[in-house]
Amino acid sequence: MVLKIQNVSKNFGGINALKDVTFSINEGEIYGLIGPNGAGKTTMFNLITNIFEPTSGEIIFNGENITALKSYKITEKGICRTYQNIRLFPQMSALKNVMVGGHCRSNAGVFSSVFRTKSQRKEEQELTKKAEELLELVGLLEFKDTFAENLAYGQQRRLEIARALASNPSLLLLDEPAAGMNEKETDSLYDLIKMVQSMGITVLIIEHDMPLVMKLCDRITVLNFGEKLAEGTPEEIQSNEAVIEAYLGKE
Ligand code: ATP
Repeated sequence: MVLKIQNVSKNFGGINALKDVTFSINEGEIYGLIGPNGAGKTTMFNLITNIFEPTSGEIIFNGENITALKSYKITEKGICRTYQNIRLFPQMSALKNVMVGGHCRSNAGVFSSVFRTKSQRKEEQELTKKAEELLELVGLLEFKDTFAENLAYGQQRRLEIARALASNPSLLLLDEPAAGMNEKETDSLYDLIKMVQSMGITVLIIEHDMPLVMKLCDRITVLNFGEKLAEGTPEEIQSNEAVIEAYLGKE
């Protein structure tokens, strides 16, 4: 088991964003977190990466309680994420954006080119090579010198994934990666996430694109008003009456 969410609750003032949620993710799975708007999905990501601490409950990663660890420590442990709203550095090249991700786990300074030691220069070269490999993986190598803001929307989303991968995560959290994508972009996103899985990386994905979720995920948890409504395989979730009622709707 890679990640265990144990009886996690989060209150914001009077709002119970998450109520006693428990689920766990096995190594190598693509695990879906779905549910209506405001169900608590992004809050769960914010708790896993300790943007906020849970009001109660524990988050266990590879057997270690990471509930109160600082966010950068959680990245060092191997959890990395993308955001619902794209958070790239718009006026940095695609390559530099990916290298920033790599620097989360290195000592070389991406911004300073003057005061570098020999070993930092070597590390910088290695990071550049790794960033180019990741850009190739996400199909953006030809755009490596393009400012992030000049990339198409789907390309920016893929660039975010490359940046997250640059810190060598063993667990990748994707927050609505297909949002705003057209069908072709979604198809290539599917291929990319499958490729990430084949690299041995476990994936937890929040997504509203149900055909994608059902095709991609091994297992799914459904949240509704902060509570776990159901958990199961895509087949089980699609035929669950409570899930159909609350979220999926009838065809
Ligand atoms: P969506 O699919 O629309 O992104 P979601 O399932 O990700 O929704 P969350 O963003 O986790 O839902 O929000 C869950 C609830 O918690 C909502 O009622 C939201 O307003 C509230 N909430 C989230 N973050 C905060 C915060 N920082 N302060 C106060 N309330 C918050």
